Amino acid sequence: MSAKIIDGNVLAREIRAEWKVRSDLLTEQGMQPGLAVIIVGSNPASSIYVRNKARACDEAGIHSEIHSFPESANQDEVILRIRELNADPRIHGILVQLPLPNHFESREIIASISVEKDVDGFHLYNVGALVTGNTVFPPCTPFGVIKMLEKNNIAIEGRHAVVVGRSNIVGKPMALMLLERGATITICTSKTRNLADHTRRADILVVATGRPHMITSDMVKPGAAVIDVGINRMPDGKLTGDVDFESVKEVAGHLTPVPGGVGPMTISMLLCSTIAAAERALARA
Ligand code: NDP
Repeated sequence: MSAKIIDGNVLAREIRAEWKVRSDLLTEQGMQPGLAVIIVGSNPASSIYVRNKARACDEAGIHSEIHSFPESANQDEVILRIRELNADPRIHGILVQLPLPNHFESREIIASISVEKDVDGFHLYNVGALVTGNTVFPPCTPFGVIKMLEKNNIAIEGRHAVVVGRSNIVGKPMALMLLERGATITICTSKTRNLADHTRRADILVVATGRPHMITSDMVKPGAAVIDVGINRMPDGKLTGDVDFESVKEVAGHLTPVPGGVGPMTISMLLCSTIAAAERALARA
């Protein structure tokens, strides 16, 4: 058996085209969606992500601004800029590119973003909304995974979903979103004993560890949907996932590649959340 490979690039383009219609409608009504991205320091990976986000915004008809600060910037000046953006009617989404330099307290920075503009969904208010099942801004990466499952008609309700990884940006919100949709959840971490005993029970296996190729075919239930969130840069410069693609594709029912899987979906979901925030701003106006 060979898995159906889920093409994240194609799906992400489809979703952007659907949402561009909504973005254009807002612009016609005088409320062009706007996204501000804050970047501190010169982490090359972050700079690439920020440029990609700005390009994707252009394609979706979203006004975007990049606010760059030097590594030496202090917390107060960044918070001051966030407050200005909170009050700026042209901006509907504010995103702070993480990680921040070590001398920053990320939690305080995120807490200063207006909850109505927190398109990443990392503000504690939005985290609480996610936990209680009233999500306003679902974190973009797990939201993208849910869309991949839905668009491929992969049932969630009543199935056993195993999430490997418990980070605040991927693993935990992923597990909560699957739980909300009626799956039975197992969350595995680096402390989990006999990992394969858990992963082999998964109808849906989501892996977000940052450990290249750690999930091999013997750890996967035949026919399972395997979603590889990991992005790892190998010594030869190539990107690879947390799942051993070549062997797992012979066992899984569905499988996402890296690159070209979850990554492009993450950016699309950010655009969707920005457009949705602008729609809510229009409704309030
Ligand atoms: P973190 O490093 O914050 O978390 C990794 C998690 O994996 C931790 O909970 C850790 O457990 C767990 N883990 C590590 N090793 C093992 C193991 N051997 N067995 C089981 N669990 C293990 O990473 P992120 O969640 O931020 O990112 C994970 C991956 O996803 C990275 O490759 C990252 O680049 C990628 N990513 C991709 C995105 C996309 O758009 N596609 C977006 C965000 C991230 P413990 O808590 O016990 O240490």
